[in-house]
Amino acid sequence: PGRFRIGGPINRSALMPSDPNETVYDIRGLTKIYPMGEVEVHALRGVNLRIPESEFVVLLGPSGSGKSTLLNIMGGLDVPTDGEVRYRDLDMTRADANRLTWFRRESVGFVFQFYNLIPSLTARENVSLVTDIATDPMTAEEALDIVGLSDRLDHFPSQLSGGQQQRVAIARAIAKRPDVLLCDEPTGALDAHTGITVLEAISNINAELGTTTAVITHNAAIGQIADRIVSMRDGVIVDETRNSTKAPVSSMSW
Ligand code: ADP
Ligand code: MG
Repeated sequence: PGRFRIGGPINRSALMPSDPNETVYDIRGLTKIYPMGEVEVHALRGVNLRIPESEFVVLLGPSGSGKSTLLNIMGGLDVPTDGEVRYRDLDMTRADANRLTWFRRESVGFVFQFYNLIPSLTARENVSLVTDIATDPMTAEEALDIVGLSDRLDHFPSQLSGGQQQRVAIARAIAKRPDVLLCDEPTGALDAHTGITVLEAISNINAELGTTTAVITHNAAIGQIADRIVSMRDGVIVDETRNSTKAPVSSMSW
């Protein structure tokens, strides 16, 4: 797989130098309880996590450990039972619904395991669904260029490989120039090698656009890419490893 080119004007870091001392997420005592009939499922039991500007953080942990619940709350798709989530100057646990809707639409790019592309629309048209409604979008062509799909603009999903379809989904997620990119098992439906091409695209976005990024993945290559690996178990963070040997995208071995 080749490297992906980033055009000039969309390089956010050139416009807004990122300051690693700036806190994007400050999460304290985060608790999530799902009522399930007679019982309660404690999905999160007091998570504390600070994510600085432009960090690439990975959430690891066995199934059921609370990773998706945490990511969904960070993206405003779910609300906590208790605890605090600050996104920049937004207190997500106390903000009104309009502010949260605005945050979710303008500031967050989501990528999920299943690409959820519309089969009857081309790659360009799938991304245009977002660029047509966002406040300050890049063009669909720019977004697809960033993920290395400039030569697949007019292909339908059925004409693309799984990895390419996921990269269209990533282009769709970044087309609105989100401040944060949240990816829940983006490689979950892909073989290991293809998964790497998807992680490479995400890493490239983080590096070139400065987008603060949180990814849930089991792909082993993530160890080379991430700034920090946060391990969860039974709803709490049990380990954090900072990656001091992070490889620049261009020097990675694949
Ligand atoms: P992970 O992503 O690490 O697999 P999840 O955050 O999806 O973990 O789930 C954590 C726990 O919360 C699990 O026990 C799961 O069954 C439960 N859970 C997640 N979502 C819901 C829900 N909407 N309703 C009830 N229980 C849920
Ligand atoms: Mg999950």
